[in-house]
Amino acid sequence: MRLSRYFLPVLKENPAEAQIVSHRLMLRAGMIKQSAAGIYSWLPLGLKVLKNIEKIVHEEQEKAGHMAMLMPTIQSADLWRESGRYDDYGEEMLRFKDRHGRDMLFTPTAEELITDIFRGHVNSYKDLPLTMYQIQWKFRDERRPRFGVMRGREFYMKDGYNFDLTKEDALHAYNRHLVSYLRTYERMGLQAIPMRADSGPIGGDDTHEFLVLAETGESEVFYDSAVTDLSFGGRDINFDDVKECQSILEEFTTKYARTDETHDEALFREVPEERRKVARGIEVGQIFYFGTKYSEALGAMVQNVDGKKVPVHMGSHGIGVSRLVGAIIEASHDDKGIIWPEGVTPYHCGIVNLKQGDAEADAACESLYNQLRNAGLEPLYDDRNERAGGKFATMDLIGLPWRLTVGPRGLKNGVIELAGRKTGVSEEMTPEAAIQKVIARYR
Ligand code: ATP
Ligand code: MG
Repeated sequence: MRLSRYFLPVLKENPAEAQIVSHRLMLRAGMIKQSAAGIYSWLPLGLKVLKNIEKIVHEEQEKAGHMAMLMPTIQSADLWRESGRYDDYGEEMLRFKDRHGRDMLFTPTAEELITDIFRGHVNSYKDLPLTMYQIQWKFRDERRPRFGVMRGREFYMKDGYNFDLTKEDALHAYNRHLVSYLRTYERMGLQAIPMRADSGPIGGDDTHEFLVLAETGESEVFYDSAVTDLSFGGRDINFDDVKECQSILEEFTTKYARTDETHDEALFREVPEERRKVARGIEVGQIFYFGTKYSEALGAMVQNVDGKKVPVHMGSHGIGVSRLVGAIIEASHDDKGIIWPEGVTPYHCGIVNLKQGDAEADAACESLYNQLRNAGLEPLYDDRNERAGGKFATMDLIGLPWRLTVGPRGLKNGVIELAGRKTGVSEEMTPEAAIQKVIARYR
């Protein structure tokens, strides 16, 4: 992409309405634009990151054996009356009528609808286990939408649902989700700690939230600092292996880590004092096992081995896809701007032409641009007629992990500069060496 043709409405000043750094930087970097309270347009740069996050979520769900599907955003109230949640959900649910006067709503989550699909088609234990998920827009009429996409009213969420014959099978599904979520966040450059949580309006006994530690997080968290030493390290997992998933769950959830809703001061005191931490966190996901709550209410039954009809055991699992864009920025930025982890960066690298219009510099940049694209990467080439300082400031603000800087002086000696956004370290090298180095980072 050439910056001269890109829609990147960068703001020089800090927008007054933004209270936290991710919101500020997303507005300044031209990633989003608010259209109503808690409702945003995703501009080209922001959409790229959102789509990269979405892609990682899809890939990791597929690896765990879960199937993607898509349900509508607008649902009829009927199913929600059947489950009893139409009245329970309260003011967060956006309700309206269609032209025939029928009660409709914008989906805040989809347990009812998926259970309806299930009960219409599945009758036997032979069709289980089954886990399906979607990545779809949700609407919750939050009382205080704030912090940009972190607490929106309209937001993008992965929601998955498992159907199992027994509690034991459903707990394996729970463990499998925990493991796949750990992988998912790690690929985004995030450490998200599973913490024992409260189930809220979804209901159920077993639930963990995944929290990214950040001063601006809305949840108060209590944990043993030993949990921050745990790392998944891209391990290859057999998701069908019940023992393997169980042991990873134990590895990541045995040490004390809880949100304020489930915090137990007496238990916390058993953690050695120097490891006892009280901090704040951003909830980027949650997994639930809720047993037969919805299957009983909606009659989602299957025949078991003995030919008896039994309600299925279920769980649901969510990842805040749009919230993650903000959470990643909260976890990775400096005073100049965003620092994208390589796994989610909107462009793989930037090319800065220090002297646009200089025949040699232009030719060198074009050549870099084409070679990187031919290698399957997406560079963002700043080919505008602007001074170098402004170009650097833009690149730092939008946070691409690598910057290739090309100028007539370097080219005389056959070199360009390669700089890492995170380390701030820059090195001179030949264009070929720089290209190889960038390609190697993304292989
Ligand atoms: P919260 O406690 O932050 O209101 P929740 O527990 O109600 O969230 P879930 O039903 O668990 O949310 O939804 C799954 C995920 O969707 C959450 O972990 C969070 O990352 C994301 N999410 C929930 N509400 C919002 C929102 N208003 N804006 C953006 N993301 C959200
Ligand atoms: Mg939650």
